[in-house]
Amino acid sequence: MTSAALDPDVLISWFDATARDLPWRRPECTPWGVLVSEIMLQQTPVARVEPVWHEWLRRWPTPSALAAASQAEVLRAWGKLGYPRRALRLHAAATAIAEHHGDAVPSDVDTLLALPGIGAYTARAVAAFAYGRRCPVVDTNVRRVVARAVHGAGDAGPPSTTRDLADVEALLPADEADAARYSAAVMELGQVVCTARSPRCVDCPVLDGCAWHRNGRPAYNGPAKPVQKFAGTDRQVRGLLLDVLRDSSGPVVRARLDAVWADAGQRDRCLDSLLVDGLVEQTDDGRFALPGDH
Ligand code: SF4
Repeated sequence: MTSAALDPDVLISWFDATARDLPWRRPECTPWGVLVSEIMLQQTPVARVEPVWHEWLRRWPTPSALAAASQAEVLRAWGKLGYPRRALRLHAAATAIAEHHGDAVPSDVDTLLALPGIGAYTARAVAAFAYGRRCPVVDTNVRRVVARAVHGAGDAGPPSTTRDLADVEALLPADEADAARYSAAVMELGQVVCTARSPRCVDCPVLDGCAWHRNGRPAYNGPAKPVQKFAGTDRQVRGLLLDVLRDSSGPVVRARLDAVWADAGQRDRCLDSLLVDGLVEQTDDGRFALPGDH
């Protein structure tokens, strides 16, 4: 493996000159703010995350403040960010940080990984971006940039945590602070320049060393990725059911939920999955509510 294709000096200079000014990147942002941003950004674009992130940090500036909120409050404040199980994961992590870590977000990867709801990506992103640690931070964007620039492939194949981490680890500069900055730069490159559908190679700082570009940009011919639809999916129906509960101040009767989607089979399946996921609870008298909201 060579890092020539993704030269750290080039990428860090590019990042210093062009990085988007995002609130969780500012020096005054706390590690807690970074953790909240990383969970929110996993499946939601920056523009939708930013206002909600500000509101969360204003309302819950520390892990213990969030831990003191009810799950129902947290789910309401999650609003329309989607994939609301993330809100409960964040709440569970905040509770563990408040109870076992003196209300301070841990800085090392293993301790972060031991927190509930914190996975391989989030643990390393927090260690790198909140604490400047040297560790491989691998998300979809980074995998795509490495696949193209280093391996000359049009896109990354199916993820493999072990292989992907080793792949990116080999690229990191030795210096700890540089490595963290480099991780942020590679991710930014994938988000704003080397995008999945239309990479802007002419604007790319590593164009000269990019193996995919040099090879004439061969088409990706690995396994197809599942297409993320929304309309008509269980995800949409789950969202509609949760909207009813978020907009209500307490438990609702079944008929209120039945009104949001005509297909009874799909509706029942979605409601069951929300109950299983702990996003909805049923009261003793058969009504439905957000967790703890009754
Ligand atoms: S040259 Fe093009 S394909 Fe290569 S890293 Fe830059 S944007 Fe991506």
